[in-house]
Amino acid sequence: MYNSSAVGKSANTQAGNRFFVYEVVGLSQNAESAQNNSPIRRSGSILITVPYDRMNQEMRRIAKMGGKIVSIRPLSEAAEAIANANGSKNNTVAEAPQAEPQSQPSKPMTQAKDKKAKAKAKAKDIPVNIYKPKNPYIGKCLSNEALVREGGSGRVQHLVFDISGGDLRYLEGQSIGIIPPGEDEKGKPHKLRLYSIASTRHGDNEDDKTVSLCVRELVYQHPETNETVYGVCSSFLCNLNSGDDVQITGPVGKEMLLPDDEEATVIMIATGTGIAPFRAFLWRMFKEKHEDYQFKGLAWLFFGIPYTANILYKEELEQLQKEFPENFRLTYAISREQKNAQGGKMYIQDRIAENAEEIWQLLQKDNTHGYICGLKGMEDGIDAGMSAVTSKQGIDWSDYQKQLKKAHRWHVETY
Ligand SMILES: Cc1cc2nc3c(=O)[nH]c(=O)nc-3n(C[C@H](O)[C@H](O)[C@H](O)COP(=O)(O)OP(=O)(O)OC[C@H]3O[C@@H](n4cnc5c(N)ncnc54)[C@H](O)[C@@H]3O)c2cc1C
Repeated sequence: MYNSSAVGKSANTQAGNRFFVYEVVGLSQNAESAQNNSPIRRSGSILITVPYDRMNQEMRRIAKMGGKIVSIRPLSEAAEAIANANGSKNNTVAEAPQAEPQSQPSKPMTQAKDKKAKAKAKAKDIPVNIYKPKNPYIGKCLSNEALVREGGSGRVQHLVFDISGGDLRYLEGQSIGIIPPGEDEKGKPHKLRLYSIASTRHGDNEDDKTVSLCVRELVYQHPETNETVYGVCSSFLCNLNSGDDVQITGPVGKEMLLPDDEEATVIMIATGTGIAPFRAFLWRMFKEKHEDYQFKGLAWLFFGIPYTANILYKEELEQLQKEFPENFRLTYAISREQKNAQGGKMYIQDRIAENAEEIWQLLQKDNTHGYICGLKGMEDGIDAGMSAVTSKQGIDWSDYQKQLKKAHRWHVETY
């Protein structure tokens, strides 16, 4: 039978060794809360250190005692050492460190300046708008392959373009613009359409000379005439032959970039062609071995599609999972074939709801990033699933999500 959620449970071992500090208000110093060994601070809150694998349990216990968690932060390395020295690893609650992790002594100015300068240089290094619509790069189609197999719905193509003749460069998570040939109904040249880049910065041939896209052909029935309408740019792209010219602009986008941290946890939630940037991420993490990036973290892909035959890049994704079971988790939501807990169609939000507790735990680490890409409107269901879990602990998901966005840890690109 088809394994819909081939998830390696052991992937969390690294997180399992980590500690987090809950700041809790509303607990009086009574017999039960005294078990925390955590004196009430002047602000009225208590700091409680919790090992990763007891986080949920502790949240429930705090809620039962009438407490409200106002913040959750990873314990600094030093504080973790204190906790370990206290032999607290096996206890539910360890003694809180005296110093709050967020109020660590600031780094010497030179070091801070250095870091800032480096960050700035890095920010400058994000290529944008190298080619503008007035002066697009003319690339050539090298290949155009079908990604939907027999029995699937619609047409999705993987396209590779030669960009060796120009200056176009890009990063994983960026998009390029394509200007389709011809004119619109007003007689003006067609406007560009954006497409997420599906290859790593090195391209599918790893020679820095190509860029790839994953394009769904837009086809619909005209609501009044009932005529079949084909999208201008997507059908142009899906029908390209090798050797054909393509007008390319960009790259654009800073929202969906992959974090530099090689130990990060990267949760990716895709529907349909929303897989494109995540293909780039996963190929960079696991397929290409470049000196500048050796991924050692956890990548978890949730992928929503209607049929098994619509699983884009299926063989390669499953091969990666086989090769890297500790670092890559793959969870499908196949809406027309699988059933959710209520017996309805299995949509991406159902898979999120099933795994929301664990996603929530992972999000407590400050190097966990969440990415959403694909159909517009898919966020609502994901938010509902996360909200159901966080509300049990008295945390408002939309507030929390805002904090994540502010920290550049929650990334959304839907269309
Ligand atoms: C950041 C970003 C990244 C993107 N990445 C990708 C990607 O990786 N892959 C991908 O395939 N697409 C992607 N898109 C979408 C892409 O840009 C185009 O919008 C898409 O290909 C359709 O363009 P088109 O020229 O074929 O359609 P158009 O000819 O422009 O037709 C689109 C119009 O058709 C109408 N229409 C569409 N559906 C219906 C319907 N059911 N009933 C009635 N009218 C309808 C609407 O008016 C719509 O505006 C991305 C978009 C953005 C913003």
